[in-house]
Amino acid sequence: MLIILDRDGVINEYDGNYICSADEWIPIPGSIEAIARLCNAGHRIAIATNQSGIARGFYDTDGLDAMHDKLEHLVEAEGGCVDFIAYCPHHPDDQCRCRKPLTGLLEQIRDHFHLENLQGAIMIGDSRKDLEAGHRVGCRPVLVRTGNGLDTERHLDARPIPGAEVVIYDNLGRFTDALLSAEGW
Ligand SMILES: [Mg+2]
Ligand SMILES: [Zn+2]
Repeated sequence: MLIILDRDGVINEYDGNYICSADEWIPIPGSIEAIARLCNAGHRIAIATNQSGIARGFYDTDGLDAMHDKLEHLVEAEGGCVDFIAYCPHHPDDQCRCRKPLTGLLEQIRDHFHLENLQGAIMIGDSRKDLEAGHRVGCRPVLVRTGNGLDTERHLDARPIPGAEVVIYDNLGRFTDALLSAEGW
């Protein structure tokens, strides 16, 4: 199965402040191991991440590459692999087509894997815009309670995403436990 992850608040710690360097990029406990476990079970991993910090001038693409090198090396050290990272470097006012909740990043991922569509893939995020983007392209939306996740969960109760059945886990590790157990999915 193709599993698409948001980055900030799903894989790495996120408190609402921009992550501007590899040193500031700190994995959430268990997230790296979870990605490796998913890989070893035969799943493919892609990341779709909004990075408007580039448009805002907080860091450049070299800085982002350094964060992603760190991420990928940590995953590889656990025996896993991230197949593809799609990021949106634009400002919310740029009217691009890739910034989630729009679907451009997910279309890049679809094309990278030469897929007709993303039906049946899983989109995991901590923010409503992740779940909306995933739902729009037919992914099953999964919310984690790390990063923005608790806030997102509260707001989803009040204002659900029409037509979306959002499954919720405490963190990426718990999602992985469920997916890899016979009962979970
Ligand atoms: Mg996030
Ligand atoms: Zn964009």
